[in-house]
Amino acid sequence: MSKTKIWLSSPHMGGKEIEYINSAFDENWIAPLGPNVNGFETDLKNYIQQSKEIAALSSGTAAIHLALIHLGVSHGDEVICQSITFSASANPIAYQGATPIFIDSEPTTWNMCPIALKKAIKDRIAKGNKPKAIIVVHLYGMPCKMNEILMVAKQYDIPVIEDAAEALGSTYRGQKCGAFGEFGILSFNGNKIITTSGGGALVCKDEATKSKIVFYATQARDNAPHYQHSEIGYNYRLSNISAGIGRGQMEVLDKHIGLRRKMNIFYKDIFSGIKGVEVFTEPGESYFSNHWLSAILVDPNQTGGITREDLRLAFEAENIESRPLWKPMHMQPVFKDAPYYGGNVAEELFENGLCLPSGSNLTDDDRERIKTVILNVFRV
Ligand SMILES: *Cc1c(COP(=O)(O)O)cnc(C)c1O
Repeated sequence: MSKTKIWLSSPHMGGKEIEYINSAFDENWIAPLGPNVNGFETDLKNYIQQSKEIAALSSGTAAIHLALIHLGVSHGDEVICQSITFSASANPIAYQGATPIFIDSEPTTWNMCPIALKKAIKDRIAKGNKPKAIIVVHLYGMPCKMNEILMVAKQYDIPVIEDAAEALGSTYRGQKCGAFGEFGILSFNGNKIITTSGGGALVCKDEATKSKIVFYATQARDNAPHYQHSEIGYNYRLSNISAGIGRGQMEVLDKHIGLRRKMNIFYKDIFSGIKGVEVFTEPGESYFSNHWLSAILVDPNQTGGITREDLRLAFEAENIESRPLWKPMHMQPVFKDAPYYGGNVAEELFENGLCLPSGSNLTDDDRERIKTVILNVFRV
């Protein structure tokens, strides 16, 4: 294929990242600690919310894992989790030998349905096993119905872990995603809105919680001159090199969010003239999405039979990446035995939804190629 590949979301450096990496080399901080780790944590704290503390970790998955450990989740416990999400939201539940309880979405934010959540909690309690935590996701950067979910969680006194891996910079009622829950999770994987080449962070409510998280993330070493351990530890801290990339990325984060949001408008403009295709947008003024990925729903009953799969294959033929919405966890072979609460909202999203190229580094030429494919498929 001669045309260069257009990705869903690819790394977009601002330029200063290399300077932070160079300073790590100059000072010989080539380790999972150092000035860039501290600096990156401060940058994130200032960005998300001053009253929170940030623990920089090796991945978003590690962040979820440590949040569950800190909340005491262990073998035989149950943890509630949004069904339509990336598998990394749910895998750490299994790491702890606990059972995920999956919850359907509601159609406006595509995120956890507060009504199904309440039903699930009531039913699990009636069955004698009160869920230990609720993992809610801001899918593709769209904030979930945070207030409604926090109200249900408070009513039953269950801590919320907010998976904001895709939602750095998104806000709900003016507050940054990641700052609402008992814990918030961030990811800096290669395809996320900012990247450290691989990395994540846990948003903690106070300094004591952060200290405990960092303790677990650095092999649970007790305070002693020799290596002494009273608990099982993990090697989950972020490297000082990676954190250097993160510091450079923080300088361009808001600019890149602006560019991602422009991609969303680009798609809205194209699809406004195409019947039966709906671009995923904020349901109201309380919601501000970073539009990490722009996504559409294609209704074949209204498009004259054209499906999202027709569009995906047409993109593929032009070396343009697109991807069906994340397949719900309750439909995944690996979680087939896990309890599920709700209807078929998530299933229908999966059936008809497609994520579109959304990177902040796409060019006018890229957009022209994308637009041409769309107009050809829908014959407008
Ligand atoms: C990417 C992602 C994660 C995991 O983050 P990693 O840094 O890749 O481990 C978790 N949850 C969601 C929703 C994600 O998109």
